[in-house]
Amino acid sequence: MIIIIDLVKGLYMVNLGTRKNSKQRDAILELIRSTSSHPTAQWVYEKLKPRMPSLSLGTVYRNINYFRDRGLVVSVGVVGGEERFDGVVAPHPHLVCGCCGAVLDLPVPDDEIAELLTRKAGAVDFTIDFRKTILNGLCPRCAERTKTTAALSR
Ligand SMILES: [Zn+2]
Ligand SMILES: [Zn+2]
Repeated sequence: MIIIIDLVKGLYMVNLGTRKNSKQRDAILELIRSTSSHPTAQWVYEKLKPRMPSLSLGTVYRNINYFRDRGLVVSVGVVGGEERFDGVVAPHPHLVCGCCGAVLDLPVPDDEIAELLTRKAGAVDFTIDFRKTILNGLCPRCAERTKTTAALSR
């Protein structure tokens, strides 16, 4: 039993279950935090299953929801029909490849792009949620492949 103090919901207690459950929960969060690939629940499940035979996909989903409710994991959105998750919870925009579904962090200082976009959006009274900002395009690998294909068909 653990006591959680939540400023919005007040004081409440949560039963975190058995030790096995909390071990799985720790491993799921650790794995999501350790990768920059913005994984799906299925990916997390497949990575952990070999060393945690009793793990189920339902448990992975349940735990990801648990972390999301507590702000430890954020949902990047649905890419190619599958929800993607991020262990980096500070608001930052994402680049999504329309070809292979790769999700990359936009490699520019957050404040730089955020300041510009906030100003532009503010001009039309719009507030941007940077945790959900997605820029669509092609990743380097797919851009290269597209170029090669175009060259071959010429
Ligand atoms: Zn790609
Ligand atoms: Zn990210």
